[in-house]
Amino acid sequence: MNPCPCGYYQSDQNPCTCAPAVVTKYQKRISGPLLDRIDIHIEVPRVDYEKLSGDRMGETSESIRKRVQAARNIQQQLFASMQSDIICNADMRVGEIRQFCKLQDEGQSLMRAAMSQLNLSAPSSRCEFTNVGYWSL
Ligand SMILES: [Zn+2]
Repeated sequence: MNPCPCGYYQSDQNPCTCAPAVVTKYQKRISGPLLDRIDIHIEVPRVDYEKLSGDRMGETSESIRKRVQAARNIQQQLFASMQSDIICNADMRVGEIRQFCKLQDEGQSLMRAAMSQLNLSAPSSRCEFTNVGYWSL
C-alpha cells in the first residue's frame, strides 16, 4: 500500500503533494481491526530504477539458504532437547512462546508504554517492535 495517493509521503526523493487530511484519510482506508490481523508490516522505501537495473548482485540464494539452515538447526537442537514435537519456531504454541520469548525488563517497559500510549487492542499486544521504528501487528 502506498503511504499516500501520490506515493511520496515522507519520501527523501520527491515531495508529497497530498494535503495532510488526504494522507490521513488515505491511510485509514484499512480499518484498525483488519490491521490487527495483519502479522507483518514492512516499510519499503522507493527504489531507484538504476539500483534495480544495475549489475550489482545481491546475496546469493545459496548463501541465504545456509543462513536459514543454520538458524533452523539451532531451533531443531533446542526443541529436540525438550523432547517436543516442535521442529522450528513457527511451530511454537503459547506455552513455548512464553518460555522462550520472554521480554527483558526493558522490553516489558516498552510494551507497557506502547499499549498505554498507542491504545493497542488485545490482538495488537502480540506486536513486535521492528527496526524501522513502528509497531508490526
Ligand atoms: Zn502524497
